[in-house]
Amino acid sequence: MLKINNLTAHYGAAQALFGIDLQINQGETVALVGANGAGKSTLLKCLMGLIKPSAGEISLNGKKVTSSSPAQMVRRGLALSPEGREVFSHLSVLENLQLGAIPLKLPKSETTLRIDDVFARFPKLHERQQQLAGTLSGGEQQMLAMGRALMAKPSLLLLDEPSLGLAPKITDEIFAIVQQLSRSGTTILLVEQNAARALSASDNAYLMANGKIVEQGKSRDLLNDPVLRSTFLGTA
Ligand code: ATP
Repeated sequence: MLKINNLTAHYGAAQALFGIDLQINQGETVALVGANGAGKSTLLKCLMGLIKPSAGEISLNGKKVTSSSPAQMVRRGLALSPEGREVFSHLSVLENLQLGAIPLKLPKSETTLRIDDVFARFPKLHERQQQLAGTLSGGEQQMLAMGRALMAKPSLLLLDEPSLGLAPKITDEIFAIVQQLSRSGTTILLVEQNAARALSASDNAYLMANGKIVEQGKSRDLLNDPVLRSTFLGTA
């Protein structure tokens, strides 16, 4: 459903992505792993239309969507749960969720139905719907960021570092939700520094370093690759 060909991106004169090729099929969960500064977030931002690539092509369901605006990308079926959550601290949980559907200009009744769906998936958000987002715990803010992205009913959900800064028990909860979403048919691109967790939760994976894809394959095979285990996963 998503195809990235030879994608290049710069921040001013500094090149961050060097000819990225990546493909995601309908229903798959794909992990994108790599160290700090490898270019994972930059790639997600290019997909979401937040950064304009300097060369290359992005196509979604056979249609070229390179350099679309973020609102257009949401309408085309992509939604991003960003690194660092980026919830609006001074707005309530409910208001944060409502924002996720704004680019779609939905009737109020459909927005309400989608909020109910998010609450069914994240009961803690239901309990805290009137609370200001800034007063939530890190794990709850992560749920809110994911819930806000799900408000768009995306055909491809982009998750940037969902476990970052969370305690192991909360990380388990977040990964359980990612796996539930995956089992219910959502196509997911999962960016994680926690490579072992991401590989265990995905079908296929890409390893990035210095703005390039340096390894790709079935997540199961990458998890068992001795070179990767010793140099990257640190579990040899
Ligand atoms: P992290 O997990 O730390 O976010 P990452 O793999 O997502 O790592 P990116 O954030 O995409 O990596 O960064 C890729 C490169 O682009 C790095 O060299 C980084 O310093 C640089 N970079 C990222 N954001 C900017 C920016 N806004 N301006 C200039 N350079 C940037």
